[in-house]
Amino acid sequence: MKKKIVILGAGESGVGAALLARQQGYDIFVSDGGGIKDVYKKELLQSNIPFEEGMHTEEKILGVDEVVKSPGIPEKNALVKKIRLQGISIISEIEFAYRHKGDSKIIAITGSNGKTTTTALIFHICRHAGLDCAMAGNIGYSFARQVAVDPKVLYVLEVSSFQLDDIKTFRPDIAILTNITADHLDRYEYQMQNYINSKFRIAENQREGDTFIYNLDDEITNRHINNYPIKSTLYPITMSKELPQGAYLTNARMHLKWKGEEMKMSIDDFALKGKHNQYNSMAASLAATAVDIKKPIIRESLQTFQSLEHRMEPAGSIKGVLFINDSKATNINSTWFALESMDRPTILILGGVDKGNNYLLLNEMVKEKVKAIVCLGTDNSKIHEAFGGFVSLMADAGSAEEAVKAAFRFADKGDVVLLSPACASFDLFKNYEDRGEQFKHAVKEL
Ligand code: ADP
Repeated sequence: MKKKIVILGAGESGVGAALLARQQGYDIFVSDGGGIKDVYKKELLQSNIPFEEGMHTEEKILGVDEVVKSPGIPEKNALVKKIRLQGISIISEIEFAYRHKGDSKIIAITGSNGKTTTTALIFHICRHAGLDCAMAGNIGYSFARQVAVDPKVLYVLEVSSFQLDDIKTFRPDIAILTNITADHLDRYEYQMQNYINSKFRIAENQREGDTFIYNLDDEITNRHINNYPIKSTLYPITMSKELPQGAYLTNARMHLKWKGEEMKMSIDDFALKGKHNQYNSMAASLAATAVDIKKPIIRESLQTFQSLEHRMEPAGSIKGVLFINDSKATNINSTWFALESMDRPTILILGGVDKGNNYLLLNEMVKEKVKAIVCLGTDNSKIHEAFGGFVSLMADAGSAEEAVKAAFRFADKGDVVLLSPACASFDLFKNYEDRGEQFKHAVKEL
């Protein structure tokens, strides 16, 4: 008899899982408690996949063999609780796709910050090396869709902690944990340990001979790594010491050490600038080495990579004032790194929906680099409280246009206006892309 599965949630990952399930001959039903986007509805109809939206019909869900849960649905959801109570196996979409990927290899990237950049950089290197590869997961196609419609020999996957929460056998040949800082704690019962456990699950099923790349300078990763029985070979990256194996940076040079071989490269030749990107470049180079890509290809790729939209993206220069769009910075840590890479007086545009930010962590950076702050949000009181004592120039703005105008008024020739909000964008914008687009538009209109 056909195995019965239910797919909860019909976004990119749910619909990807549905297409793969259909192809693999499962008996499927897709259920989404909210509305389903038209494009996805069309795809489900075209593939003859039964679905419902705006409700969950429990008789059709409870009693199936397995449930594929979309990463957006939290554990506290009443239906999820019932499914668990019944003892039905719940898996994530990456677990489902993994089971059907055949012999292909996986490089998987997780972490609180730097996932997309590192994933895109690795994909760029692999493509430049001529490998038959795709970039999927949280970026572009879901992993399941990629496996269903365009299978490859190598997948470069951006993986969120929510997708790792429900894996069982998912085993990347090469895993990268970029860093761990407080984020999404609302989904982890406000327990940092739960979030940390979830991130380390990327290495849970790895075996001897697999590769685990992590940041030795990341305090939380380093403090916890020995608590997990990781079987793969560890390749750390660091800026604080020389290593016999892994990647490190001294005197502005990256050293890549892998099985007795060494590659050196000046950080001035990296296309991606800023300290955080030096970490990302080190991690990506190690991953590329692990899939046997040769040094000259890695070197060329690091030089030619084009930075991604909304991540430290130059957004124009007006009267000697440079505007930078880092709208993707939705937590304190990424804003910290953005400020760290500033070498000119900075007017910082900050604010939005605060996910429990501790602004104290930015104090030193702000004192050193920031001459004015423009708060861009509906409630800016926490930002005023945090920085009002020592930043004398502060203003509030209710739109990207107002923020850009206010920042420009504070700026002198040679300054930088940096949009790096440390917050989510949902109070004033649709999402971080919309915030970044409106910022760039406002700069053009100045
Ligand atoms: P993610 O996909 O994990 O959200 P991105 O690559 O999209 O990460 O970058 C998100 C934000 O974090 C950007 O603002 C970027 O400047 C910053 N960032 C990128 N890499 C790192 C890193 N290794 N450490 C800290 N911050 C980073």
